[in-house]
Amino acid sequence: MNDCLFCKIIAGEIPSAKVYEDEYVYAFRDINPQAPVHVLVVPKEHIACANEITAENSVCVAKIFEAIPKIAAAEGLTNGYRIINCCGEDGGQTVYHLHFHLLGGKKMGESF
Ligand code: 5GP
Ligand code: ZN
Repeated sequence: MNDCLFCKIIAGEIPSAKVYEDEYVYAFRDINPQAPVHVLVVPKEHIACANEITAENSVCVAKIFEAIPKIAAAEGLTNGYRIINCCGEDGGQTVYHLHFHLLGGKKMGESF
């Protein structure tokens, strides 16, 4: 029984504003955007957090970082962007399905 929010979004059981999809990767708009462009880029495979990345499942991380420039170009982020991953409690992670925040459309501040 998989009770993961992002697995349900990937499966289409919970609606999302999809911006990109391929065999390994799903990307959709954050429900609470922190910048004009705020996209969550996630592996289709359930991986709880960065600590759970292994030699066996890391191909999806490469695929995510191959997808990010395509998503950024499609979103018009010609002047750069920020990628953030939160891992665990001290990292501020709230959804335990690995995801990378793609933020852009404004000049980001120095603090995280
Ligand atoms: P975290 O804090 O784990 O790094 O990021 C989780 C992100 O998921 C937050 O930015 C939050 O706004 C977003 N989020 C939480 N629930 C939903 C949802 O149901 N749909 C979408 N699109 N984003 C969500
Ligand atoms: Zn999941």
